[in-house]
Amino acid sequence: MSRYAIIGAGPSGLAAARALTRRGIGVDGYEASRGVGGLWDIDNPRSTMYESAHLISSRTTTEFAEFPMRTTVDYPGHRALRQYFEDYAEHFGLTGLFRFETTVTRLEPRDGGWDLTSVGPEGAHTQWYAGVVLANGTLARPNIPTFTGSFSGESMHTSAYKSPAQLAGKRVLLIGAGNSGCDIAVDAVHHAASVDMSVRRGYYFAPRYLFGRPSDTLNQGRPLPARLKQAVDSRVLRAFTGDPVRFGFPKPDYRIYESHPIVNTMVLNHLGQGDLRIRPDIDRFDGPTVRFRDGTADDYDLVLLATGYTLDYPFVDRKHLQWQGAAPRLFLNIFPASFNGLYVMGMIEASGIGWQGRYEQADLLAGYLDAVEHDATNAARFRERVTTRPWPDLTGGYRYLGLDRMAYYVNKDAYRGAVRRERHALENPAPHSRG
Ligand SMILES: Cc1cc2nc3c(=O)[nH]c(=O)nc-3n(C[C@H](O)[C@H](O)[C@H](O)COP(=O)(O)OP(=O)(O)OC[C@H]3O[C@@H](n4cnc5c(N)ncnc54)[C@H](O)[C@@H]3O)c2cc1C
Repeated sequence: MSRYAIIGAGPSGLAAARALTRRGIGVDGYEASRGVGGLWDIDNPRSTMYESAHLISSRTTTEFAEFPMRTTVDYPGHRALRQYFEDYAEHFGLTGLFRFETTVTRLEPRDGGWDLTSVGPEGAHTQWYAGVVLANGTLARPNIPTFTGSFSGESMHTSAYKSPAQLAGKRVLLIGAGNSGCDIAVDAVHHAASVDMSVRRGYYFAPRYLFGRPSDTLNQGRPLPARLKQAVDSRVLRAFTGDPVRFGFPKPDYRIYESHPIVNTMVLNHLGQGDLRIRPDIDRFDGPTVRFRDGTADDYDLVLLATGYTLDYPFVDRKHLQWQGAAPRLFLNIFPASFNGLYVMGMIEASGIGWQGRYEQADLLAGYLDAVEHDATNAARFRERVTTRPWPDLTGGYRYLGLDRMAYYVNKDAYRGAVRRERHALENPAPHSRG
């Protein structure tokens, strides 16, 4: 039986370990940190979690289907989630499969598989595997834009933000308004001397609750066509949260769901209370002063870059993952078309795909690796399908913004549907295509 390596014991790596071992496929896991949970372990040096962080998608749309969380809380905090992943790993016997405090530093192809070099408590070690599952996370390497001029105050990316004590008494400027940026803005209004937020474009703000229920649990049945859902949901949001333009945000130059929505209306409440101000895009830094595009300027103590993350697989040459622009080009964001023995887990950004969506990726991969072992004809048929037939449209009909951060964005319904169809085809090959 071939043996596979998994890099990372976050939700995606654990999902891969579960799906592969369930089919009797042998795996060794490598985790740089001291335990499981990925970025949900705030003590993991690579974690981009902060003290006030909670789930953004709700519990029931996020949890692994075969392992419901033991809580009735709709949006648990990061500590509860770390415990959840520890319990998941223990329950399915996954913890012992991982070598902790062991960082993968290099992957090199050899003899149809991969030499994996890692550095752990016993030093450097190289081992050969038939294939390697890359589940090292997508939110670890900060995206740091360049600005004109230089800022003489303190400057920090949100990845280094842990607790509101870091903001106490400071005049804070947040640059960008993603989900983390808005969470941190809410922290800041209670601790900082003042809080401004510089934004380039408008956003859509969704409330956590609608009609008394977690908003992402509504409309879970058959997905509406994109245009109809955009029309309905933008009306509902306008009715419940109002027009963000009233609070100082620019009008979005795109439709709802063409970029990631912000699930945070507290930020709007604070704008309404005057605790926070929206500023335009930055023109330049000038010592302690930040000059904005509209000609206004202000002095700040701390500039906090909420400018997101870039994908990074630093231990393997880019050519092996067929990078195209800001992301590898992979079938269903998992399989390089060359079928070179590398498989990527968790390289999906989507509104509401949850850990079950990540598990379904792992399940498809496990189905394929099982076929490689036991049904060579079926495995070859899958490879042929990937290399000769068009790849499914994963946008769900939404025209995503052409930004780097949207390079691996998918629509959750389109994506999960496509994964399920491929999985079904793998398990149920058409009679004429059997060898
Ligand atoms: C504040 C915040 C809120 C979020 N809220 C939600 C939400 O509500 N719903 C949702 O679905 N997602 C949410 N996310 C997204 C989050 O990325 C996923 O939930 C999930 O953690 C992704 O799992 P992962 O295993 O792919 O990556 P990670 O959780 O990042 O795990 C990757 C693991 O790989 C390890 N690793 C990395 N490099 C190496 C190496 N070279 N060698 C060995 N080990 C390595 C890391 O130490 C880490 O443990 C949120 C993210 C943040 C930051």
